[in-house]
Order: sequence, then C-alpha cells, then structure tokens
Amino acid sequence: MHQGIMKAWLESSHLNGANSTYVEEMYEAYQEDPQSVSEDWQVVFDNLPHANGASADVPEAAHSKVRDYFRSLALEGSHKGSARVTDPEVDAKQVKVLQMINAHRFRGHQNANLDPLELWKRDKVSELDPAFHGLTSEDMQREFNTGSFAHGGETMKLVDLISALKTTYCGSIGAEYMHMIDTDEKRWIQQRLEPSLGRANYDKTAKTRILRGLNAAEGMEKYLGAKFPGAKRFSLEGGDALVPMMREIIYRAGEAGTKEVVVGMAHRGRLNLLVNILGKKPAELFDEFAGKHSDALNGSGDVKYHQGFSSDFKTPGGNVHLALAFNPSHLEIVNPVVMGSVRARLDRRGCDDGLEVLPITIHGDSAITGQGIVQETFNMSQTRGFKVGGSIRLVINNQVGFTTSNQDDIRSTEYCTDIAKMVQAPIFHVNADDPEAVVFISQLAVDYRNEFKRDVVIDLVCYRRHGHNEADEPSATQPLMYAKIKKHPTPRKIYADKLIAENTLAADEVTGMINDYRDALDHGDCVVDEWRPMTLHSVDWSPYINREWDEEYPAQMSMDRIQNLANKISYVPESHKLQSRVAKIYKDRTLMAKGEKLLDWGFAETLAYASILEDKKRIRITGQDSGRGTFFHRHAVLHNQNDASAYMPLRNISDDQGPIDLTDSVLSEASVLAFEYGYATAEPGGLTLWEAQFGDFANCAQVVIDQFLSSGEQKWGRLCGLTMLLPHGYEGQGPEHSSARLERFLQLCANHNMQVCVPSTPAQVYHMLRRQVVRPMRRPLIVMSPKSLLRHPLAVSTMEELAQGTFQNVIPEMDSLDSNKVDRVVFCSGKVYFELLERRRKENITNVALIRVEQLYPFPREEMLETLAQYQHVKDFVWCQEEPQNQGAWYCSQHHFWGAIPAGAELTYAGREASAAPACGYPTLHAQQQDSLIKTALKL
Ligand code: AMP
Repeated sequence: MHQGIMKAWLESSHLNGANSTYVEEMYEAYQEDPQSVSEDWQVVFDNLPHANGASADVPEAAHSKVRDYFRSLALEGSHKGSARVTDPEVDAKQVKVLQMINAHRFRGHQNANLDPLELWKRDKVSELDPAFHGLTSEDMQREFNTGSFAHGGETMKLVDLISALKTTYCGSIGAEYMHMIDTDEKRWIQQRLEPSLGRANYDKTAKTRILRGLNAAEGMEKYLGAKFPGAKRFSLEGGDALVPMMREIIYRAGEAGTKEVVVGMAHRGRLNLLVNILGKKPAELFDEFAGKHSDALNGSGDVKYHQGFSSDFKTPGGNVHLALAFNPSHLEIVNPVVMGSVRARLDRRGCDDGLEVLPITIHGDSAITGQGIVQETFNMSQTRGFKVGGSIRLVINNQVGFTTSNQDDIRSTEYCTDIAKMVQAPIFHVNADDPEAVVFISQLAVDYRNEFKRDVVIDLVCYRRHGHNEADEPSATQPLMYAKIKKHPTPRKIYADKLIAENTLAADEVTGMINDYRDALDHGDCVVDEWRPMTLHSVDWSPYINREWDEEYPAQMSMDRIQNLANKISYVPESHKLQSRVAKIYKDRTLMAKGEKLLDWGFAETLAYASILEDKKRIRITGQDSGRGTFFHRHAVLHNQNDASAYMPLRNISDDQGPIDLTDSVLSEASVLAFEYGYATAEPGGLTLWEAQFGDFANCAQVVIDQFLSSGEQKWGRLCGLTMLLPHGYEGQGPEHSSARLERFLQLCANHNMQVCVPSTPAQVYHMLRRQVVRPMRRPLIVMSPKSLLRHPLAVSTMEELAQGTFQNVIPEMDSLDSNKVDRVVFCSGKVYFELLERRRKENITNVALIRVEQLYPFPREEMLETLAQYQHVKDFVWCQEEPQNQGAWYCSQHHFWGAIPAGAELTYAGREASAAPACGYPTLHAQQQDSLIKTALKL
C-alpha cells in the first residue's frame, strides 16, 4: 500500500514545484511531529528518502536535501512558468539517490571489508546496490544532488558518488552510528567520516610510528615465543594493531588535555601492552617467565598476565599518567573497577566533564557479548553517580572465544558489540590489517568521547594466530580458520610491504627496525620512547602502607563540636516541606540534638558522616536506596513535598567541608560494588561506602568480593578501604532477606585482609565509621548492619558515648552482675544480644553474662582476654547465634573463642540447626526457633 501511495505521489502534481512551499512546510511540520500531518502525507514522507528498513529518523538526515529539492522545483517552475517542468522519472531518481546514500550510512558496515581472513560470511545487502534503487548504468554519468553527504560539491556524478560511498562506508571501516538518536552526533560523525572518505592521510612520521608499533607488537611475541616456548603469554598476534592504536589514543587524549588514562583488559595482549605501551622493562617480564619473584612482595603475588602497571607517557600535548588495572581471571569484571577508579580521579581533580581522565576498556569478542557485567557497566555510563564522561571500549575481536567460534554458538546478535547500542554508542568496526584505518578511527573515537562525553566502541576485527594460550592447539577445533591463518602474512609485514611499495620507507629501514627492537629486548631496558618516570599520579599512598587495624587513633572529640554537628544534621530549612514520617524523624533528631532524647542509629550514623566531612574528607555512599535507607532510617536526602527539590543536611555542615556524593545506585550489585572497589582503591583519603538493599543481595557481586576485595592486597598489593553495609538479622522475613551470609565473609578472612564487624549500638556504628577513615589502615570493612535495631528502644546511645568513647571490638557485660556468681558466659553478635538481654532481665537471671563480639575479624584476642579475666572460674561458655549452625560465625570463628576461654572450659553452641536455606519462611516457625535458641543460651 505504501508503495502504491508513493508511486501515486511521484506521479502526481506535487512534484511540479508550484506548491513546493506548502509541501516543504508540511514536511517541516512532519519533522517536528509526524502526527501533525495527515496519514497519507505521513506515508509519503515516511517513504521519501528512506533506506528500506531504516528507522524513523532517516528523513531528518535528508531533510535539507528534500527541502532544497522542493525549492529547486519551485524555482524551475517559476522560470519556465509551467506547472510540470521536470521529468518525474528524473525526480524520482533523485529521491532514490538520497535513499542510497542513507542506505550506505545505515548498512554500509554490513558489506565493509572487515575480516582480515575473509572468512565472515555476510549476506549481500541489496540496498547497497544501485540497481535496488532503480539506478541504471545510464544514470551513472548524470549529476545528482548529494544532499547532506559531506563529500564533494552539492552535486556529483552518480558513478563518483557510489565510489565515494563505498570507500567511506564499505572499506576497512564499518561505521555503525545511525541507530543513535541524537542528530548532532550523527552529523558530527558524518562530518568526520565523509569528507575524507573514511581514510587518513598520514605523513611519513605518523606512518613510521604506526609501523614501529606493529613491529614492537610482533617482535615482542616472537621473542617470547622463541625464548619461552609453550609458556602462556596470551599472544596478541593477529591483533597487533592494538599497540599502535593505544599509542595514538594516548597521543590524541594528551593533545586534548587528558592527564590520566586508566586501562582495563583481560589476558590477551596484556604482556605486549605492558612492555610496548606502559614501558615495563622486558628484563622484569623475562624474570617472571623464568619463575623469579621479587623479595619485596609480601603477599601471594599473581601470574604475569594479571599484573597491572603504572607509568607516565610523553605525548605532544604533555605527559599523561597511565594506569593498567590489575585483573583477575574473571572476564570483564574489571570494567566497572576501571570506571570507579576514573571517577575517583575525576572527583579529586574536580573535573566534571571527564576530559582529564580517560577510561579505556579492552574486551574480547566473546566476552563483551557474553558477560552481563558489560551491560551493567553500559547502563551506569550516563547516570549521576557513576558517569565518567564516556569511555573508549576496544574489542580485540579475534573471532574465537577459547575454542568456540561458530557464530551459532557464541551469540544471538549480528555483532559482538550490539550491546553498546543500548546507550546509543557509535560502534566502529575496523579491519585490523589496515592499521591506518585503525588509527584514523581511534583518533575519531577520542574526539567523539571528548565532544559528547559518551561511550564509543571500536571493534578491532582480527584473528588469533595461536591457540587460546601457547600450549593450546587451535587447529583441533578451528581447522579451516587455522589453515588460513597459517598462510596469512602478519600485520607488520602487510603494512611494511605497503610502505615500501609506496616509497615511504626503504626495505633496509624496515629490516633495521626489526633488528633494533630485538636488540632492545636483549638489552632488557624499557622499549617505549615515550615512557617517563611516574610523577603525575595525584595520591600519595605511603601514609597508608603497612598499617594495622589495632593501631591507636584519635577517636574522641569535644562535646561542643559534636553538639554543633548534631544541630547541623537535624536542621532543615522551613521552606523545605517534609513528608510527615520524615518530619517526625527530623523532629526526633532535633530532640536528640538538644539532649532530650537518646540517640538512635540514623542520628549517630549521620553524625559520623558529618564529622568526617567537617574534617574535609570526602564521602561517597551508593546503594539501591542509600538516600533514604532501605529501612527508612537514614533520610540523608530530603525531598521537598511541594516541588520535589532535594536538601541534604550533610552538604551544609561548613563552608569548607569535604564533598559528599550520596546517590541511589543503578539496580545492580556486581557493577556497583566493583565500581566502588575501583573508587576506593584510587581514593584513600575519604570514606567510600556501598550499601546492599538486603545483605544477601551482595551474592550477586560475589566475584568482586572473592577476587578483588578479599584478595586484592594479597595478590597485587592494592589497598582498599571500602566499607560494605549489609543488612543482616533474623526477623522472620524468610530465607532471602535475613542473612548477609556472614559465614562467607569470615571464610575469606586471613592475613588481616579485611574487617568483619557487627555493631550493636548507635555509638558503635558512629565510632566504626569514623575509625575507618581516621585510622590510616585501608582495608575493607564488612558490616553486618541492622534492621530492627535501627529502632530498637534499647539500641540507643548518649552524646557522651560518641564524644568520649571509641569503637569497642568486644563489649563486656553491661548489667551489674556479680561476676563471682556467673557460671555461664554467652558470646554473641548483633541483634540477638538484645533478645538475650531482655529475656534474662525478664527471667531475673543473674548467673549468665553476655559478651558482645563486635568485631569478628581480625579477632580482638587481647580485648577478649581482658574481658574474660573476671570469668576465669567459669567452665561453661556458649556461642549464641541466630543463623543456622552451618552459617553465621560458629564454624569460622569458634577457634578464636576456644583460644580465649580459660583452659579446661567448654564451648557449646546455641543457635538454629544446620539448614540448607538461610532462614525459614514461616513467621511462627521463626518465632519458635528464636525462642528455642534464646532458651538454650540462657539455660532455660
Ligand atoms: P595509579 O595512579 O593507579 O597508577 O597508581 C600510582 C601508584 O600509586 C602505584 O604505582 C602504587 O605505587 C600506588 N597505588 C595506587 N593505588 C594503590 C592502592 N590501592 N594501594 C596501594 N598503593 C597504590
């Protein structure tokens, strides 16, 4: 039907130009809002300059063309004084030419020359064929208006136009950008691609630099292959263009004013970048291959292809600091870590637009499409709390993931990069055997990122010369591909031959380059000319190195100061109308500040933040409901009920206070926790906090906990002071909302790698949070944070406890029991203490003492021994917990309790029976179990 209408229209008098203004105005109205014109006209305009299958915004791209066209018709009409002055067939062809231009912009990449091996089977795209548009060989020499195509003049011979389109859109670069909504961005890309037909015009210096990069990439792998045959190095070969590409990206970024570049990548090509871009000394790498390790290393160390590195790099625009993030084997998880690290650096520099710090993430083709963390990271990329001004994402697309290469097995999308379309990122596929195209598009990518502050993707289509690693035999699973690879010349050779053929370089210069590089490796010194010793990174970590958790620290502050802070955090401007429940909370806070009410959890926690900010330190808190608090206790961000504006008392502490970012996060655990890990490993000065909505949700981020948080210092010497707040407590809410899986954290504890705390009072949370910043040790703090305790009448503190106290790792018996009469001591952590206390008081029990262990790891042995001094006569010790026996602290911590109780005493267990689920789903069963464990603990 559409085509019928189109045909009718083409044949109608609309084309005669007499009514062109009317048509043009209508077209403009249609551009604003397609619904504003009649349905028939919508169909006409929809079909006008469309490529088949194109999206609704195509007409916009050709708007000027269509407008000019109507005007020219009008002009011709007035000249000739006739209602029909042009040949309808010719006019229709002009429209078809515009359609063909757009077809190339939309789908040219599908027929681009991207695969160096030429193995990709790609269907022919009929819209890219002139015949599809009814354009014949007779039309080839005719001039047509080229609309918005940004090459040549207003008109071109069809034959030249087609050639220009093919060169631009179907050469070594496949540009995918017409999915983007923003017209300015699309136009920007067209203006960068079309005038030069997507080709660079590099001088001899630039070309030589590119060849130098390829030469180094290949030389390094060959050298390692010869010196350490069969050793795993995850060779870059096939994707050698990555080296010149990285160099040019850093050059371009440096020229634009970037000061730091943070890179995240998995194994492939890592050793190559370490030596050829970051400037790691080859001799050091060879030592690692030979199995030597540095005496300076205290921890476990890590394999060479997980290692990070830092250096400075000279660019024409000034030196740039480079940091390659350490990376575990888990693919892609380093991406949000890199983004967090970048955000911390940007915040420190006060750079809001991202220009000064550039993140580059390097992906494998199977991983970028296979791993969900990639989606999570894209989703964060433009959000308030997580944006970094865009990142450059490079895919080493070697068309195989370990041994899986068949597209039917590997993905359900056309390209491995399709995920990037969710954030409207432009995607540039490029043939890695054309290094000039690679460099050209890399420069464009840097400029795009800096211009629009958004992610951009380069899909470096290459191959993998060897197996997954060097001990692997790839032809067992990819026989045809590897038969082809065997015969395929290396990227260095292809480019060197080209430069020799065009007389840019002489053959002996090329040979000299190879020999020089090999000699440099033999020598073992840095092979990167641009390498400079590190002076640019902006944080001094030395105050935090070799610190321990039990170091003394100044915990106390004057009552005056604390009173002043209490007033500040409870003040809300009158004009800011609070919701009634929130108003009640703030009314209570005012009473607490006046000393008329004991302090609750939310008040003490907020006061801790206020004091840290007043000390000019930075605070960053994220989590799914951090502003309000999952359990309605925090209300750090106050929403005006009249106009929805936000007010944060914590931003109004003093004129020169530290900054606070308190943002609700995207609905993710893995990427957000990884981001905060990255932030905290780059920002030691302040307090970085992640809060889970419910504690067990942290298990979605288990990889971050296992592979970064708990082991990053041991493996890589990277300190991290991140605090995790994990709501935990058995309130009868079922298996999924009770436990933060304390046992998993305790099981990961060794070498004083992190702290696991279960604070039970407002004063304790206050001191615990302050301690994490004031004390110079930077290690993760895992907090089993409360739910019902947030409002428990006994879980209250005084202002004096805040001002004068300190964090108590162990809290001794609080009631005045006669210790001589005590014949049982119950250890416990968390909210169960209050249940034990209330029951003991109710039953008038005086022979059972209750001791709270507020820090389960590192176990506070000295404090525990001190606390138990008065109970040396006691033989009966009990650990009481709410969790089932196989969970909680019982199995992981009992050796510490055994080690602290008097010789000859017994330690027994009071808690739920072992269970596969963390908690039961029935409130009555929960209550029975809870009653039973309390009774067991109190000998009732
Ligand atoms: P970067 O800015 O990440 O390249 O780090 C520069 C230098 O700071 C590194 O070489 C380390 O010496 C030190 N450094 C950076 N991050 C940490 C960390 N999380 N823990 C300890 N030292 C660090």
